[in-house]
Amino acid sequence: MTSKGLKTRDKIDPKYKWNIEAMISDESRIDSDLQKIRKQADSFAAKYAGHLGDSAGTLYDAFAASDSIMRKLEKIYVYAHMRRDEDNSNSLYQGMTDKAMAVIAYVSAATSFFTPELLSIKRSTLLGFIEENPKLKTYEFVILNALRQKKHILGKKEEAVMAQMGEITGATNDIFTMLNNADIKFADAVDSKGRSHPVTHGSYIKHMESKDRVLRESAYNSMYDAYKNLINAISSAYNYNTKTDVVTSRIRKFASSREAALSGDNIPGAVYDNLVSVVNENLPAMHRYVELRKKLLGLDKMYMYDMYVPLIKIPNKKISFEEGLDIMREALKPLGRDYINKMNKGISQGWIDVYENKGKTSGAYSFGCYDSYPYILLNYTDTLKDVFTIIHEMGHSMHSKYTRDAQPYVYGSHSIFTAETASTVNESLLMNYLLSKETEPRMRKYLLNMYLEEFRTTLFRQTMFAEFEDITHKAIEAGQVLTGDWMCDQYQALNDKYYGPAVERDDTIRCEWARIPHFYNAFYVYKYATGYSAATAISSRILTEGKAAAADYIDFLSTGESDYPIELLKIAGVDMSSPEPIRKAMDKFNELLDEFEGMVG
Ligand SMILES: [Zn+2]
Repeated sequence: MTSKGLKTRDKIDPKYKWNIEAMISDESRIDSDLQKIRKQADSFAAKYAGHLGDSAGTLYDAFAASDSIMRKLEKIYVYAHMRRDEDNSNSLYQGMTDKAMAVIAYVSAATSFFTPELLSIKRSTLLGFIEENPKLKTYEFVILNALRQKKHILGKKEEAVMAQMGEITGATNDIFTMLNNADIKFADAVDSKGRSHPVTHGSYIKHMESKDRVLRESAYNSMYDAYKNLINAISSAYNYNTKTDVVTSRIRKFASSREAALSGDNIPGAVYDNLVSVVNENLPAMHRYVELRKKLLGLDKMYMYDMYVPLIKIPNKKISFEEGLDIMREALKPLGRDYINKMNKGISQGWIDVYENKGKTSGAYSFGCYDSYPYILLNYTDTLKDVFTIIHEMGHSMHSKYTRDAQPYVYGSHSIFTAETASTVNESLLMNYLLSKETEPRMRKYLLNMYLEEFRTTLFRQTMFAEFEDITHKAIEAGQVLTGDWMCDQYQALNDKYYGPAVERDDTIRCEWARIPHFYNAFYVYKYATGYSAATAISSRILTEGKAAAADYIDFLSTGESDYPIELLKIAGVDMSSPEPIRKAMDKFNELLDEFEGMVG
């Protein structure tokens, strides 16, 4: 992005800037506050290390003291981070962020005795403490969750060895990152007029969306030729990365690497298997969509580089920020008055930082801490896509708002598993709202196509990735070595299965696995697909059942991390341990596809 012509931050109208002053009004105290926090961490360790099991009262005091230290520290860190994001060239806030990070590391080290010591106390003693001291009830879930994971924690000596090995086991990810960002070279792509275009990770998707098919094909070949050149090194990195997952899970006495990865959120393996099997049952619908794409593009032969080009073109319509907010308010009406009122109040309090300025962090996020507004950073450019971005981030912020109003600090945030549900429910309500009032056929087709593409890229594609990870980890668990050829064969088979017969086979897409950074954080991407399904099921329920369903959803938003994600989602009426929500999402996909096919077929 060029910074030419961009306003400096001081030239932005204050009404479009977030009210961050409400968070910390006097910066001059931050340094001394950080010093105080360091000292508090020292006295915390001096007072409680070796004494957590002394009595119920001591244990409660230790929990509360730890929360109080983290809560203050988090506030300073979040403040510095957001100030830095306002203008990354401002070294004051870079320095403040670094200082806060250093104190976080210091506090983590000083308090690292806590969990191991907690787990050294007998289960019956801990449960007795909770009975004895009603204040400890607040921490019951934290304690039970720690006890649940106790069998995977090793002895003191072994844990010390594991901690040292940790400095090495991350190497495969670093090696891939170096290959993927530093060593890899992409040849320029050439368009139909003979002009060349640089190919980068960032520009690739733009080329894939280009109407110029020559450019698309050229960029596609440039991208994958580069990976083919590095395929042996990347295969080796991925083989050892997967092996690390497997070996670590064995050392920690998990039945499999997948079980180890899912155990943090206490997700049953059935959630993963249901996702894969229901999506597989519905692949004929995906094939129908791909077939339709081929027909609409008027192609005799369609290749994977034809998969991202938009099918329906619409004139660019500008949507001002104020208009965007109005659309959001209308779209979210089914969530009820309380949600809208809280949101409007937040907007007027200054939650949102709207426009781009020189040095501002790109993209969008919702961020904040227990003691701040749930702020939203945007780079609003007056497009429909930006309206989807606001409503997505507002979903996160309202989730935080409801949670922090209802929960103590210890449960005041969210797991990824539930967080992306809250943002996607909003997106889904927006899409349904826009479709409900759009009668102009071209615009309607555009929206339907946009919706279908979301299903394809979030639900189908991420499930395909999830299946790939499952295959590679199981192979390592069966004693196999992952070679480049074998992985490319597996990936080719998955790609054929997901996209169906309308796509021509080439010897290129089979290397796609090699460019996915998420594969170095195994068994993670399935959460995008499950979150999307949960959100689709919840929004359908709200739109069909009305108030009662909306009230359940608000209850869910208020739960934070006070229970396991699967249990929390049940409050909103979706049981992710059953295949039902995935089926409902698939029904929606089929319904959208039927209408789209009827309009264009
Ligand atoms: Zn999000």
